[in-house]
Amino acid sequence: MTFDYAPAPESRAVVDIASHYGLFIDGEFVETIDGTTFKTVNPATEEVLSEVTEAGAADVERAVKAARTAYKQTWSKMPGRERAKYLYRIARIIQERSRELAVLETLDNGKPIRESRDVDIPLVAAHFFYHAGWADKIAYAGYGDRAYGVAGQIIPWNFPLLMLAWKIAPALACGNTVVLKPAETTPLTALAFADICRQADLPPGVVNIVTGAGQTGRLLVESPGVDKVAFTGSTEVGRQIQRALAGTRKGLTLELGGKAANIVFDDAPVDEAIEGIVNGIFFNQGHVCCAGSRLLVQESVHDEVLDALKRRLATLRMGDPMDKNTDIGAINSFEQQSRIDDLVRAGEDEGADRWSAPCTIPERGWWFPPTVFTGVTQAHRIAREEIFGPVLSVLTFRTPDEAVEKANNTPFGLSAGVWSEKGSRILWMASRLRAGVVWANTFNRFDPASPFGGYKESGFGREGGRQGLAAYLKQEVV
Ligand code: NAP
Ligand code: MG
Repeated sequence: MTFDYAPAPESRAVVDIASHYGLFIDGEFVETIDGTTFKTVNPATEEVLSEVTEAGAADVERAVKAARTAYKQTWSKMPGRERAKYLYRIARIIQERSRELAVLETLDNGKPIRESRDVDIPLVAAHFFYHAGWADKIAYAGYGDRAYGVAGQIIPWNFPLLMLAWKIAPALACGNTVVLKPAETTPLTALAFADICRQADLPPGVVNIVTGAGQTGRLLVESPGVDKVAFTGSTEVGRQIQRALAGTRKGLTLELGGKAANIVFDDAPVDEAIEGIVNGIFFNQGHVCCAGSRLLVQESVHDEVLDALKRRLATLRMGDPMDKNTDIGAINSFEQQSRIDDLVRAGEDEGADRWSAPCTIPERGWWFPPTVFTGVTQAHRIAREEIFGPVLSVLTFRTPDEAVEKANNTPFGLSAGVWSEKGSRILWMASRLRAGVVWANTFNRFDPASPFGGYKESGFGREGGRQGLAAYLKQEVV
């Protein structure tokens, strides 16, 4: 039986997008000195949303200088309990403006409004509340209490405002000032956040937002006035940054890619596991660094799980991200869609069996239907490389040892999922999986109190929790 849902689009009247944005430096929006402009588009419609500034070298230096001055003159002199008040205020304003932020995020990124409204924005507020609570207790966290000074932060497009929160909230709580570069394709919520900083009366220069592409990020990384670089993005760019910083005194944390195993044992409750698999790889169109992109299913339940999974995937609704019924939104950019196309073609060429959900692809914008590959071996590119799209590769195992071996057979180590009724087996698996986060009978759950980060090529450093504070405190030399 199929259902037709009446469209339930969220109104975009709640957002007010300017036709042009400058850079947010020293508490105000300013025009560029030596940069240019670029357009940001809605990936679901290809509509141009706004013209944004691409910061040049002089702009980046101006932002870093503003952050340095703010650090010296106001922020480092302020007691933690005063910094906490600003973080609380920002958190409250985010809650008050949550609908506007969710709509803006969905328009600029293409993710379903249901996700930006129910996941991204509540977590953004939660990160500011959580770190507001730490600001006057930093000295008790166990990492000293010396801030770096100016943090240069670079984030990707998959969770634009959430990644901003993961970066800015702990940096400010620990007493640093920041210059942040959002991703080229999703600058709008970072610019709305700049307005929130103004509304919260945050002292000028404590937060600076420089929009631009990779080159602006490079300028920020290499700026001599930056004391600490925090980067979330691809392993490839992470490597370049680490090379650029070798031999300097700058601090560095890297949150990079992943290729997580979601491991389903034969005693797992199948219906729950199916929801976990769907949430693991089709949440946010699979544009999730910790996505459960490799399903390892115990051989005895392979057919049962795959049949149930395909039945479930056939019910997912792909289309207008602003519609509250939509499960699968748009792919963020043409470039990303091409990357997904290439890897899916490689999967077909290497002999894996492709199945895609029967979705109607909208005429404009960039899309990819939920796709499952079976008959995948560990040598296949789709089992080794991060696809960063709604594509699941299915492998099988017979014993727990084999599951561990296959799960760890990857250059990445960000996350993993285990589905089993046996608590002892879950603990046994968790102690052997080389992954920063292991979820048990759930997937893609986030909480600001829980540290997140990787092993191996997934990077180093943690975000969130007490451990996340270490990234923004200069460790005492012993
Ligand atoms: P990306 O190309 O590495 O870009 C990330 C950010 O770095 C963007 O702001 C980008 O600017 C900028 N950038 C590009 N080249 C740079 C350079 N040479 N120097 C400094 N900055 C530079 O990654 P992406 O494709 O946007 O994002 C997807 C990747 O992020 C995936 O691999 C995913 O796994 C990873 N990710 C990891 C986590 C985590 O917590 N571990 C979370 C989310 C995503 P432009 O936007 O202009 O390219
Ligand atoms: Mg965009």
